[in-house]
Amino acid sequence: TVLIQRHMKKSRRWGKAMSILKEFEEKCATPTWKLKQVADAMTVEMHAGLASEGGSKLKMLISFVHNLPTGNEEGLFYALDLGGTNFRVLRMQLGGKDGGIISREFTEVSIPPNLMVGTSTALFDYIAAELAKFVNEESQDFQVPPGRKRELGFTFSFPVMQTSIASGNLIKWTKGFNIDDAVGQDVVAELSKAIERQGLDMHITALVNDTVGTLAGGRYTNKDVMAAVILGTGTNAAYVENAQAIPKWHGPLPKSGEMVINMEWGNFLSSHLPLTEYDNALDAESLNPGEQIFEKIISGMYLGEIVRRVLCKMAEEAFFFGETVPQKLKVPFILRTPDMSAMHHDTSADLNVVESKLKNIFEISNTSLVVRKAIVELCNIVATRGARLSAAGILGILKKLGKDTVSDGEGNKNVIAMDGGLYEHYTEYRKCLENTLKELVGEDLSDSIVVEHSNDGSGTGAALLAASQSHYLDG
Ligand code: BGC
Ligand code: MG
Repeated sequence: TVLIQRHMKKSRRWGKAMSILKEFEEKCATPTWKLKQVADAMTVEMHAGLASEGGSKLKMLISFVHNLPTGNEEGLFYALDLGGTNFRVLRMQLGGKDGGIISREFTEVSIPPNLMVGTSTALFDYIAAELAKFVNEESQDFQVPPGRKRELGFTFSFPVMQTSIASGNLIKWTKGFNIDDAVGQDVVAELSKAIERQGLDMHITALVNDTVGTLAGGRYTNKDVMAAVILGTGTNAAYVENAQAIPKWHGPLPKSGEMVINMEWGNFLSSHLPLTEYDNALDAESLNPGEQIFEKIISGMYLGEIVRRVLCKMAEEAFFFGETVPQKLKVPFILRTPDMSAMHHDTSADLNVVESKLKNIFEISNTSLVVRKAIVELCNIVATRGARLSAAGILGILKKLGKDTVSDGEGNKNVIAMDGGLYEHYTEYRKCLENTLKELVGEDLSDSIVVEHSNDGSGTGAALLAASQSHYLDG
């Protein structure tokens, strides 16, 4: 009877754990009809955000970019790309019409975590010092003409209220950055001062969001690129809008008739979003409660953390990992999305990868195969919800532009330039996103709407935009 009792207790606990998982799965459900509601809500919010400043949770920021690269850009340009856990410095020699990119060099540096939550001066001094080192390695072959300053495009991947193509004030931090004294400041002025402190002779000629940079970089190689999406640590989208469809823009109408809009879709919020108790708790305990809700359910910074929270509940309420709750399981953000992805992609029969991740990250051992299978399923639920919602976001943009239905037989392609570590490295996520987009736009359109990986387009794009701002071409 002892054995029978033990067995019954075990199966009761297993049943409880599975019901927690099942309930989570149901709350995360994203059937097609729901995704269409999300897309419609996105379209509505886009209109509202364009109508007036503060008209929506979607800021729909005006980028001041109204000409995308043409291929005629020429000369030596620098870019600095700051936005996630790393930043990049880039140098490009552009060959002008038919010349293309003659040379492209970069260096990548990780940002010490303490600088992400320190002072503005400390962060910008660190970046400027790395920039100075890189500039010193400039080769004799590629240099700016005598008497000219070096020019830099600055990719800054946070919400900025631009005041011109080369100035703008930080609205708020996202993605784990939290530097109070920088909020409200002109980030170009901050970087310029730091560059001067390095004794460097360099002029910042363009300030762009990474989505805007990716759009510009994508357009340089493919004229059908009309939007860009980043799925990395954070998430966001930018697209080319008709300048006359922006009621809140009171400046002169650009000659091109177009304006690139940085949506800041990470802050999108709608009652149609499938939010769970775990998402609400994650948000409440985050650095930015109430903000970036869309980002918190679809981007790389948070997916692993959601998985951890569900596992924690299964351990606490259903003894999923035995009598006690493993201590490490209680540590926020200990499960990074790349580790979640590795577990999700484990194809070995006995789920060795899951086993070793559990051991190395949580110090959990001796799990049974069914437990490990349940964990893979949990990763799948979280990744699927994120990927499907990002596809719905893209449908929202297509709808806003009236490109979600077949209107002409012209066979024009609409290309979305995509970048970010999540998209690049999390295969199941990427496949799910692409399949969902096909499902949403339908067969007639599925060939004309193309997602294209734009490898590091954000830095390249910033250098290209710096080039088009430059007076190089004026002769
Ligand atoms: C930022 C955006 C950025 C995105 C992707 C978000 O957290 O608010 O400005 O484009 O991350 O890097
Ligand atoms: Mg990047």
